[in-house]
Amino acid sequence: MTSQDWIARGDQHIARTYARYPLVAVKGEGCRLWDADGKCYLDFLAGVAVNNLGHCHPKVVAALQEQAARLLHCSNYFHIPSQIELAELLCEHSFGDRVFFCNSGAEANEAAMKLVRKYSAERFGADRFEVITALASFHGRTIGTISATGQDKVKVGFAPMVPGFRYVPFGDAAALRAAVNEHTCAVLLEPVQGEGGVNVPPSGYLAEVRRICNECNLLLVYDEVQVGCGRTGELFAYQHEGVAPDIMTLAKALAGGPPIGAMVATEPVAEYFGPGSHGSTFGGNPLMTTAALAAMRALIEDGVLENCRAMGDYLRRRLEERRQRFPFIKEVRGRGLILGMELSISGGDIVQQALQQGLLINCTAGTVLRFLPPLTVTQAEIDEALAILDAILDRI
Ligand SMILES: *Cc1c(COP(=O)(O)O)cnc(C)c1O
Repeated sequence: MTSQDWIARGDQHIARTYARYPLVAVKGEGCRLWDADGKCYLDFLAGVAVNNLGHCHPKVVAALQEQAARLLHCSNYFHIPSQIELAELLCEHSFGDRVFFCNSGAEANEAAMKLVRKYSAERFGADRFEVITALASFHGRTIGTISATGQDKVKVGFAPMVPGFRYVPFGDAAALRAAVNEHTCAVLLEPVQGEGGVNVPPSGYLAEVRRICNECNLLLVYDEVQVGCGRTGELFAYQHEGVAPDIMTLAKALAGGPPIGAMVATEPVAEYFGPGSHGSTFGGNPLMTTAALAAMRALIEDGVLENCRAMGDYLRRRLEERRQRFPFIKEVRGRGLILGMELSISGGDIVQQALQQGLLINCTAGTVLRFLPPLTVTQAEIDEALAILDAILDRI
């Protein structure tokens, strides 16, 4: 089957929720992705920050193969060794004490929102349930998480929203403080906004948010679904600022490709999630947690974070050079290997041309080219991507 044949077939029965690029993905290895016609692409999107270890990392593949033949599923009515080990690893390397496992970022955020409501209701009364989130945030596609998201475009057609959210400009601690009232129970933020345009808050912002939360008895929740698991050069993005939350959500890269979500919380908060309060059939199943253990160990032990920092600096410097050269590039920003290039023109056409030339990037918030290569990317691969990009920018 050619790519064209697949695309025509998919058009018949796949829901139309994505405006897909004309690429039929059949194989991946490291930073490379192949389509059904045998064309090879340099993948600087990495499954939207899922493939932090590149495609089909050998340790993740081996772990999955072995576990698949041993035990796929048994339910959370029983204890699962790989789930226990993964929870230990996450707590050892973060602020957390306990982990709830689920299957996606949206579910992890749903768990966090349920937990902050329960914590607040039991500690402070039923009237205290509002969560402050940021404008331009993204927290998922369920009814609850689109309600939490500070962007109107994800809500169109799905009214009414779940009540209990207030939105403030990202990076503005004074605005956040002003939004707190007697109904507020928590603040939910991405330490670096991904979908909203790769927005890095001013330094000191998270510390000030933490101070406000402490003063007002609010829980601080970080959505690290996109920027956690090494993407910014630290295992978790909050570690750059050293400002710990009470709850953190993870998903995307946690298992190195397979679907998983997790909510990490401190003991005094996690305590409010007792037996029967929340659950997930697949959450933390043997297969995914085994993959995640392999992926997280590779991230921590194989020098991947160091490579992310070095290659992040390199790519950022090289993109910054292009900003000097091309007047339509307004800003280059980000942290580690989540980098955004804000343009004064729409980025969609550049993404299409890059795809034709064999480079996968994407455009978010309309005008921000987003670079999310695997954290294992080499300098030679970055140079190759830049050569493709330059040829496109030169023609504008
Ligand atoms: C992708 C993303 C989500 C949603 O994750 P899903 O696995 O698609 O549900 C939530 N928050 C952030 C910051 C994300 O980038």
